[in-house]
Amino acid sequence: MPGPGEFDIIRNYFSRAPSGEGVVLGIGDDCALLQPPAGELLATSVDTLVADRHFPAGANAGLIASRALRVNVSDLAAMNARPLWFTLALTLPESDADWLQAFADGLLETAREYGVALVGGDTTRGPLSITIQVTGSSGAPLRRDGAGAGDAIYVSGPLGAAAASLPVILGQRSVSNADRQRAETAYFCPEPQLKTAAAIGVIASSAVDISDGLLADLGHICRASGVTAEVDLEAVPVAGLARELDEARALELAATGGDDYQLCFTVPQAQIAALEALGLDAVRIGTLVAAEGTPEVRAQLRGETWTPAAAGYQHF
Ligand code: ADP
Ligand code: MG
Repeated sequence: MPGPGEFDIIRNYFSRAPSGEGVVLGIGDDCALLQPPAGELLATSVDTLVADRHFPAGANAGLIASRALRVNVSDLAAMNARPLWFTLALTLPESDADWLQAFADGLLETAREYGVALVGGDTTRGPLSITIQVTGSSGAPLRRDGAGAGDAIYVSGPLGAAAASLPVILGQRSVSNADRQRAETAYFCPEPQLKTAAAIGVIASSAVDISDGLLADLGHICRASGVTAEVDLEAVPVAGLARELDEARALELAATGGDDYQLCFTVPQAQIAALEALGLDAVRIGTLVAAEGTPEVRAQLRGETWTPAAAGYQHF
């Protein structure tokens, strides 16, 4: 039986998306019409997930959708922007009603969780890929270029869970159903750190979400701000899923593994007391110092310089 055609796909699976704040006109016209919140800046970002690069093509469609939206919302969290709207460009090798139903269910459930409305998109045939563009608004954006020497470096929560799960996700290691579920949750359902971002918005001097690995993403703050980071690896919180591995491997994954989408942020000395008073789960992992020449990230373990076996992920 042939699957639904292009317009049936849009009507059956995506047009039923609930409306949202500021949506004057949603799916169905040539453009959506959106009313930005008065006095705030719009923050917008796009991410593409390509089958067999960002997720196995055979993975559960609902989980793929969940991950696609979460990683985009995480970019908003990294800027302290509140999610408002998103568009979806979906490229499918074939029209498969069951796959589309699971995908739309996962997508719209995740959208509800984060209060973000699907307002448009594009549907095409080709190798499976999912592009989501997300827009939010912020009254106190957090940027990568605001950090200064002397600022303390924090991470919002434990790292290494998604990287530790990757062999299970890629089918390289077989585990019990319960362990598979834990791995899938870690990899496909990272939690965008919106609450932490809102709390630190006027306290932090810079922030980035950790998609490519702590040391690599902290490097972006260092280059944008012109400072060097000194990280004490013993302080880095390691996720339970990574702690089940040997200690050296766990630390490697926490320092360089991507896909956890925790935040790394910096706090000026004068704001540290205000941050600590918030009672967040955030952990201090180091300090920024003046760059001598090129900004860099220096990691130490038990007083010794530590270099990762592999650098952060780069596509090219
Ligand atoms: P156009 O040809 O004018 O670009 P389309 O025929 O591609 O419009 O889409 C019709 C409507 O459906 C538009 O409002 C578009 O935003 C929406 N749309 C198309 N594909 C999707 C999708 N995958 N998810 C959500 N909305 C979609
Ligand atoms: Mg048109």
